[in-house]
Amino acid sequence: MRKSKNMLAVLFILFSVFAFTAGTIRKSATIKIAEKSSLSGKKAASGFGKTAALSKKSIVCTSFPEYDWVLNILGSKAENFEIILLQNKGTDLHSYQPTIKDMAKIAACDLFIYVGGESDAWVEKALKNSTNKNQLTINLMELLGDKVREEEIVEGMQVSEQHEGEEAEEETEYDEHIWLSLRNAIFLTEELCRILEKLDSQNVVYYKKNTASYVKQLDSLDKEYSKTVADAKIKTILFGDRFPFRYFVDDYNLNYYAAFVGCSAESEAKFETIVFLSKKVDELGIKTILTIEKSTKKVAKSIASNSKAKDINIIEMDSLQSVSANEILNGKTYLSVMKENLKVLQTALNQVN
Ligand SMILES: [Zn+2]
Repeated sequence: MRKSKNMLAVLFILFSVFAFTAGTIRKSATIKIAEKSSLSGKKAASGFGKTAALSKKSIVCTSFPEYDWVLNILGSKAENFEIILLQNKGTDLHSYQPTIKDMAKIAACDLFIYVGGESDAWVEKALKNSTNKNQLTINLMELLGDKVREEEIVEGMQVSEQHEGEEAEEETEYDEHIWLSLRNAIFLTEELCRILEKLDSQNVVYYKKNTASYVKQLDSLDKEYSKTVADAKIKTILFGDRFPFRYFVDDYNLNYYAAFVGCSAESEAKFETIVFLSKKVDELGIKTILTIEKSTKKVAKSIASNSKAKDINIIEMDSLQSVSANEILNGKTYLSVMKENLKVLQTALNQVN
C-alpha cells in the first residue's frame, strides 16, 4: 500500500516537472516572439530578435546603461550573444519587479549584470534559482567599491518619513544612480570588457579595441562637461524634483538644491520646500529649473510660480532610469543622452538673471 502511494508520488512529481518544463519552453518561445516585435532592426543584432540559438551565450542586464556599454564593447560580435535588457518597458527602474519570464532568463543566463542598489533587492532571490552552474554575476556597485557614495541630504531637501525612520536606525543608504557619472561609466566599461573576455576569449583584441574607442568618447565628453562648468556663470543647479544626479554633480564640483533626496517615493512637496527653493531661484538668479525625465513637473512649476523671476524655463535632464525598447530602437544610447544632458547643463548654468 505504502509502496503504491510512493509510486504515485513519484509519478506526480515527474508529471509536474514535465509540465513545468514544457511551460517554460513554451514561455521562452513567446519571449522570443515578443522581443522580435519590440526590438528588431539594428538592435536585433544584439540577439533580441534572433531565433533562440542554444549555442549562444546569453547576457542579461537589468538596466539600460550597462546594456548599452556591453553592446559597445562587443560591437559587431554582439550578434554571437543573446543580450537581454530586462527593464525595457519605460517604467521607472525603482518600480521594476521581474516577471516569471524574466526569472527564467536570469536563471539560465551565462552573465548577469545588475546595479546592486536598493532597487535590486529582488536580485538575491532571483539568483537562488540559477540553473547555470557556470553563471557569472556582476554587481556594478560592488565593482565600483569605494567609488560608491552615500545618499546625501542637502539644505532644503524634503526628507521622507521613511528616510527619517531609517536615519534613526542609522542605516547607511548608498546612492544607486552610479551610471550618471561618466567617470564611473569609463571605469565600468573597462571592467565589463575584462569580464566579457571570459565569455569569448577568441575576440579579446577586438573587444579591447572597441572598449578603448568607446572610453575615448566618454572621456572627451567628460572633458567637455568640465570645461562647461569651468566657463559657467553659476555653479549651481536646482531640481524641482527627485535628485538622482549625486555622482554627476560630484564629478564637476557643482552645487545643487533639490526637492527630494535620491529617488524617494515622495512626489508631493511641502510648502516650505517650495518656498525654500523659490528663494534660491531668486537669490542665485536661476532661470532654469530642472526635472528628471517623464516628470509631471508639478513641483518645478510651483517653484517657478512662487519665485519673483518671470521667465523661468523648466527643462528635463535625463537620468536614464526609464528607457523603453522603443526609445532604444529610435537611437537612444548612453552617450546620446549624456550629450543632450550637457546641452541642458549649459543652458542651466548660463542663462541667468
Ligand atoms: Zn532613481
